[in-house]
Formats: sequence, structure tokens, C-alpha cells
Amino acid sequence: MDKTEIVIAGDTPGAEWRIPVLKVVGKDPKAPKVYMQAALHAGELPGVAALHFLVPMLQTAEAKGEILGDITIVPRANPIGAAQWINGEMEGRFDLASRANFNRDYPHVGLEARESLLSDLENLSTVDQLKRHLLHMATGSDLMLDLHCDDESQLYTYVHEAYWPQATDLAESMGLEAVLLSDGNSSAFEDSVTYAWEHGPLGNRKHWAEGRISITMEFRGTADVDPVLGRMDAEGLYAFLQRRGAIAGAPIRREEFDGPVAGLDFVQMVNSPAAGMVLFEREYGETVEKGDLLATIVTTPGDVSGDRQVLSPTDGTIVTRVGRRFLRRGDNLMKIASRELSGAKRKPGGGLED
Ligand SMILES: [Zn+2]
Repeated sequence: MDKTEIVIAGDTPGAEWRIPVLKVVGKDPKAPKVYMQAALHAGELPGVAALHFLVPMLQTAEAKGEILGDITIVPRANPIGAAQWINGEMEGRFDLASRANFNRDYPHVGLEARESLLSDLENLSTVDQLKRHLLHMATGSDLMLDLHCDDESQLYTYVHEAYWPQATDLAESMGLEAVLLSDGNSSAFEDSVTYAWEHGPLGNRKHWAEGRISITMEFRGTADVDPVLGRMDAEGLYAFLQRRGAIAGAPIRREEFDGPVAGLDFVQMVNSPAAGMVLFEREYGETVEKGDLLATIVTTPGDVSGDRQVLSPTDGTIVTRVGRRFLRRGDNLMKIASRELSGAKRKPGGGLED
């Protein structure tokens, strides 16, 4: 396994950033190439734990000659976000200087123009340089997994509908609890990788999505960082790479997938009707019916007449909950995967959240 670093000049004199890149060269040039990164939102660590446990497994496989496709891993993709601390809290989601989300505003470049991502970098901000380096590596793969997490959440993934149901093998390997099908060409990392493939030569493929996947996987909640889950998720990733032919051998893990599969327009964003303290009545992962009490918002502590009840707008499964317990009016409380159109407002091709 080779270890190199991408070095990016900072926006101010004397500053530079280093992004470690691990790479194993596969022995079969026809096998799928793999790219995985974690902590693009710098505070989202469950994927980092998974990759931490996956790397030694890959080294063992490499020693046995079982790595077939090239595998590139960036275990912590965003040192810029990891260094942003305000009043004791990391701000790993947005770049403080530009207010840009680290997982938005990726350029849409067709695959044949991929090398242009690395031209004129010296004229770009540090954050844009980081984005282009990551996107350049990812678009050179066939299997791209961008590992994120939610606040409090099931293990679920966003996946472009063109990769489904082919990606059932990922759901079975990881033991996914829900799949949210996206439809768009947003500027998020996964969609910019998809854009490059969709606007590139087919090669031996009948369809651009054949044998490929580019996804954002949500590895539960921000606090779900521990050795048991990390090892289990590493085994899931390993099994998926075996099933796709990037690593030799029978898959080491396979679960039955029976979770909900919902298009983004069928994900109900349940928002808080008022500002206050939230008392949750239901856990994520639970099945709810329309009208069930999900939470109480305490707007006036000490006066129950100010309590506001939040009822489920639909039948479905609670996929995520907000992590904070104080909310402003309109803040998202839960995402519920349902069979009903949600009517949630989204920008064309956009995601559920900014
Ligand atoms: Zn994220």
C-alpha cells in the first residue's frame, strides 16, 4: 500500500494543508477501480472509523494477492474543516471564509475533460483546490463511496436512481437500514462524479451506470464512533468490494435488505412548528403511522399550555432525528421515509438540506 500526500497551499502566507492518500494497485486492470473518502464534512467520523479498520484488511489482502482493482482511500478528506474551531466547537460542514458547504459547488466536468480539474489550481482558493483534487481522484474510479453521517440516524445511503436496484449488493453487504433514491445533478460530490460518468464515453458499457456507483453513505449519527461499529462497517465495505470484483474471494458479510427505499420526494421533512426544547416521543428506526405523536416542543418551560405537539404527517419509517435539543422555528426535526409524496420544497436537482 502506497501512502502519498496531496499538499495544498493555504490562502495565507505560511499555511499549507496535507491530505493523506492511500493506494493499493490491483492486479487485474479490468477489475473495477475504487475510491473512498471520509470526513469531507470534517466532524463526521463514523466513516473514518470504518476506513481505519478497513485499511489493515486491505493490506492483508494485498499480501495474499487478492486485490484485483485499484483502491484509493482518503481517510480524512478535509483538514481545512477539521482546523476550524469556534468557541470549542468544530465547524466542519461550511468553510468559514467563503461560507461554502464542503460538499456542494463541485464543478460539473465530463469524464474526458477530467484532467482540466487540475489545471490553473494556483488561481483557485484553498477550498476549491481541495475540491478539485478530490473530484479528480474520484472520477477516475468506477465505485465511489463518500462516507458521511447524519445527526442521529439509521445506516442509510443516498443513491442516484440509475444505480438502483443494482446497488442492492451494497445494501446487503453493509446491512443498510434505508435507501433514499436521488434524482438530480446537484453540485454535491456524489452527483458531480455521476455527472462526469454520465457525460463521458461508454467504453464497453451499454449504459453509463453499468458497473458503477457514486454515493453518499450516511453512517448513522455523529456520536456512533466506536470499534464495534467501525469493524462491522469495514467488513461491509470489504464484502461490497468482493461482490463487485475489486477484491477476490467470497463475500465475508451478507445481510438481508428489507429497509424502505424512498425517492427524495417521498422523504417527509418534519420541521419544528415553533422555537423551543424538543422532547422526542419516538426513536429513529421506528415505524410510525399518520397522526402519531413524534415530539413535543416546549415553547414556555413551566407552562404546559405552550407545548406544541408534532404529529407524523404520514405512515413511514423514521430515518433520522436532529441532534440538538433546542430548535428554532422551521428547523428540521426528523426525516421520515414514506410512500406518500412529501411536497417538500427542493431546488431542482437539489438535496434535502443545504
Ligand atoms: Zn456530511
